[in-house]
Amino acid sequence: MSRKSSARFKCCLKCRLLLQSQANICPNCKSDNFSFDWSGLVVVFDPENSAIAKMLKITKPGKYAIKCR
Ligand SMILES: [Zn+2]
Repeated sequence: MSRKSSARFKCCLKCRLLLQSQANICPNCKSDNFSFDWSGLVVVFDPENSAIAKMLKITKPGKYAIKCR
């Protein structure tokens, strides 16, 4: 779960959503600041009832990085 797979995905620095490396805008927060330096992947299906989503302040379902810098 904390495995690094930065080659295929990049994370949005603002909301930590994981995106394909060719994406140029975050569909979540419309940011264009990305980083390939991330670790820990969490898949959120139901943010309202997910403790980790609350901890990471995730409000929309999707794939997120736990750390993104
Ligand atoms: Zn974002």
